[in-house]
Amino acid sequence: MVLGELGGTISRALQQMSNATIIDEKVLNECLNEISRALLQSDVQFKLVRDMQTNIKKIVNLDDLAVGHNKRKIIQQAIFNELCKMLDPGKPSFTPKKGKTCVVMFVGLQGSGKTTTCTKYAYYHQKKGWKPALVCADTFRAGAFDQLKQNATKAKIPFYGSYTESDPVKIAVEGVERFKKENCDLIIVDTSGRHKQEAALFEEMRQVSEATKPDLVIFVMDSSIGQAAFDQAQAFKQSVAVGAVIVTKMDGHAKGGGALSAVAATKSPVIFIGTGEHMDEFEVFDVKPFVSRLLGMGDLSGFMDKIHEVVPMDQQPELLQKLSEGNFTLRIMYEQFQNILKMGPIGQVFSMLPRFSAELMPKGREKESQAKIKRYMTMMDSMTNEELDSSNPKLMNDSRILRIARGSGRPVREVMEMLEEYKRLAKIWSKMKGLKIPKKGEMSALSRNMNA
Ligand code: GDP
Repeated sequence: MVLGELGGTISRALQQMSNATIIDEKVLNECLNEISRALLQSDVQFKLVRDMQTNIKKIVNLDDLAVGHNKRKIIQQAIFNELCKMLDPGKPSFTPKKGKTCVVMFVGLQGSGKTTTCTKYAYYHQKKGWKPALVCADTFRAGAFDQLKQNATKAKIPFYGSYTESDPVKIAVEGVERFKKENCDLIIVDTSGRHKQEAALFEEMRQVSEATKPDLVIFVMDSSIGQAAFDQAQAFKQSVAVGAVIVTKMDGHAKGGGALSAVAATKSPVIFIGTGEHMDEFEVFDVKPFVSRLLGMGDLSGFMDKIHEVVPMDQQPELLQKLSEGNFTLRIMYEQFQNILKMGPIGQVFSMLPRFSAELMPKGREKESQAKIKRYMTMMDSMTNEELDSSNPKLMNDSRILRIARGSGRPVREVMEMLEEYKRLAKIWSKMKGLKIPKKGEMSALSRNMNA
């Protein structure tokens, strides 16, 4: 099960629970079982899933919840917290400081994406003002140095390696020494991988680590590794002081649940994810927005980041103003439909709000959804300005609905369906009312607000 599906299953389970008239133990158990099944299918380790279920049951004592308490909210919050806990080892990883020499060593199995990720990591920091350098201490895989050299040249990052020297420790030490002299503040050492965990790999890693004394060891893991993730991550952690995890290939049909297991095994946070083969297909990993998206709660901080990134500057104030007012009129819905159909920049932005976009345009059913959106727009073309600009749902009485149906040549049932859709989207939109529009770089405060 890929992550998108996992998110879908979890939010459906929560929705089903929300639809139940009374939330009793049976309903809670059904919901938790459904979520557990989804997590297991996504390769989260069995023990972690079982612990999560036990913890939630401990926190959510249905008998103790006083009447009037919103049980659903409490349960949803408990699930959110437990998933965050799984992904958050409780201590941040070491972060390199600009201007101060720092050695970062990359470890992982062959094919995990280690070499590619070294360059992505260097490139990411270079864009932020660091002076990175790459050292290829992978003498096991023929072509590893060429690959690193090619990537480094493309990104204009200095590199060091050897075609003739077979001792990885010697190359690592020489490389680190050279770049220290050149005042590089982020020296990245790529080490050898093997097809499977074996003694020679771990011994070599230990020696490189002892000789270069890295400030941070990053374990790179392919997200499609499956249930083996926990054991693999643990084996690496036992040999070297893994301090952070990077999960690669999150773009493919990955069962991303392995990431959760790797965090548990290494007690180290996931700091970045790889989302493609290209240098800039690399994202900072933040636990709360990630879990929000999994639970279909929307990634609001990512959403704001995306607005700054893809919406043209001159269109930003207007969109942000509308967002902060929180009045979602039918006209705004019409405009957003236009954007979603064009899948232009704002369409991309709205894809950050899973319920907003995914429900309108579910994956694999894009054609069907496009036809539906077009039908809705035809009906809205038969509306008056007053109807389009009002955010009062009571305005749409029977005679108006009948008139719109006649005018657009669509059945009354469809007009009502469209108005239901409007109400649903308006509810999501209303969450943004009063939103303080942050400037770029002020996202963490926003995300705290939204998750509160
Ligand atoms: P290494 O043996 O661990 O050094 O792995 P490489 O860096 O050579 O990567 C193995 C393959 O995975 C290459 O074809 C990379 O282009 C590909 N790769 C690495 N990271 C990603 C990613 O995030 N997404 C995708 N789709 N491919 C990736």
